[in-house]
Amino acid sequence: MEKRTRFSIGYFVLVFIVLMMIQSYLAQVYGVRVLPYSEFLLSVEQGQVAEVNITSYKIKGKFKKNDTAGSARLAPDFETVRVEDPDLIRKLKESGVRFTGVIESTFVRDLLSWLVPIFFFGLFWYFMVKRMGGQQGFLSLGKNKAKIYMEDDPRIRFEDVAGVDEAKLELMEVVEFLENPGKFTRIGGKLPRGVLLVGPPGTGKTMLAKAVAGESHVPFFSMSGSEFVELFVGMGAARVRDLFEQAKAKQPCIIFIDELDALGKARGGISMGGHDEREQTLNQLLVEMDGFDPTAAIILIGATNRPEILDPALLRPGRFDRQILVDRPDKAGREAILRVHMKNVQVSDDVDVSGVAAMTPGFAGADLANLVNEAALLAVRQGKEEVTQAEFQEAVERVVAGLEKKNRLINRHEREIVAYHETGHALVGLSVSGADPVRKITIIPRGISALGYTMNVPTEDRFLMTKSELLARVAMALAGQAAEEIVFGEISTGAHSDLSKATDIARGMVKEYGMDDGMGRVYLESERRPLFLSVPGLSQERKYSEQTAREIDEAVRRIIDEQYDRAKHILRERRAVLDAGARLLLEKEKIEGQELAALMEENGFKPLNMGGASKHTAKAEE
Ligand code: ADP
Ligand code: ZN
Repeated sequence: MEKRTRFSIGYFVLVFIVLMMIQSYLAQVYGVRVLPYSEFLLSVEQGQVAEVNITSYKIKGKFKKNDTAGSARLAPDFETVRVEDPDLIRKLKESGVRFTGVIESTFVRDLLSWLVPIFFFGLFWYFMVKRMGGQQGFLSLGKNKAKIYMEDDPRIRFEDVAGVDEAKLELMEVVEFLENPGKFTRIGGKLPRGVLLVGPPGTGKTMLAKAVAGESHVPFFSMSGSEFVELFVGMGAARVRDLFEQAKAKQPCIIFIDELDALGKARGGISMGGHDEREQTLNQLLVEMDGFDPTAAIILIGATNRPEILDPALLRPGRFDRQILVDRPDKAGREAILRVHMKNVQVSDDVDVSGVAAMTPGFAGADLANLVNEAALLAVRQGKEEVTQAEFQEAVERVVAGLEKKNRLINRHEREIVAYHETGHALVGLSVSGADPVRKITIIPRGISALGYTMNVPTEDRFLMTKSELLARVAMALAGQAAEEIVFGEISTGAHSDLSKATDIARGMVKEYGMDDGMGRVYLESERRPLFLSVPGLSQERKYSEQTAREIDEAVRRIIDEQYDRAKHILRERRAVLDAGARLLLEKEKIEGQELAALMEENGFKPLNMGGASKHTAKAEE
């Protein structure tokens, strides 16, 4: 399509150029010389003019045939603009020029001067529209049906979406309603109208919405919030109207709006361009939601990962008043999701699905789907018949930290710094009680930013953490830097994200968990997690004084400093292990937590946090 259009535009330009050339050729052959009025008068006085036609604006005429006034005069015809000149007639008479007056009909010319531009404009428009939309009709700009995605009977069922049981439970009610809207309205119960699925990307929100439609066998309309916001003001609103019109004709049905935040951002914020348009679109959406016939069997499902920026108006009763959290799955959930996706590939019996689930805390459904796919690809590459545990192991590592780039060169000194840095993390992780078990230490560069990482694994998905555990995490996060300082006397930029992680934890301890003795047991608002689910629109202003803010900063700094000193102390004491570990790491590029633990034991230290049978893997620590 695209190619053909470009081709015809090229054609068009070619024809245009040819026309221009013909035109200029003709003008040369039959050309009319345009004279300034003064020259025309001169010619008349010198008797070179044979005859003239005087029209209302122009004087056209012919030179005499035997004119010798110069070779420049190619054509005997000439033309000049008529100037108000009462003496002209006398002069013409004196020179014996034949003259006539002509009343020109300008009708055809005027008509052409209108029609030709309109024609070209139309042609241009046609091509533009064709290029933009393809399927779009010539005049149906706002009615862009193409982008509204409709499935009459989606085949996704609840069983395909795993690990989100609570969300499914809540959505069951919607399914019941859609299956039998009459039952609900007869009793007069309050109908669900809008459901907002809130959760990080890739957790299956779209799937859930489709599954609701699939379970209740109703059509599924979907559109993405970002698609509503159009270049031209008013088009987004027209689209919303159109979407609802189509949905009303097909009820009972589901309208799914992905990325609701793209159009439902709180109004009145600073924004460039597109602002009015978004506001109009949002208003139209609100109008449509309010204007529903109360018995209409249309359910709106919105999805967003940034509920805190949504306009509070969207969350009022009767609109998206029911919010369902679709969080990242826990271990059991991950196992279930893995099993769903493993159905589509040949998996060997030796694969320990729950083990793989244990290795992947923090993965969302989409990551797990990607993981299974990656493992399958690895198996294919190695010519295997089925996917084995080894491929899953490798795939986890790949997905966790990007593909291994063994051949990326870092210079020797950098490698040394990274090795000490990572060994520092791991050694402190094995030395303070309450830290997560260390599984693997590597200096193989992965991805772009992380030069190396230490995998430490929470033993189970954690919901509660004690103060000493949090402090252990802070110490471990700072240990890379501490090791660099001890060994090289200075720190590198590689510790950047360590520091932000440590600060985050410390800040949380002070402000949210009341774990700082100096600050006492107070809750001092959280900046990171606004209370979107309970009180929409609550402003996030600070609820404490400047003085308190300073005290918080001091308390955070105190925690960081203390843990940094703690890490340094541990590493100084275990310098021999640090050196041996870093040497081993430089040599092998990748070592197991156990190997470092063995080095500790050789040197007379008892490793902690060996974390039972857990073979988990987790967050990369740079
Ligand atoms: P979201 O809309 O939350 O960003 P999607 O529903 O688009 O996420 O999920 C993307 C893909 O990830 C799905 O097509 C599916 O393959 C996989 N996926 C995500 N969550 C799940 C889940 N809970 N169960 C099974 N597969 C999932
Ligand atoms: Zn680090």
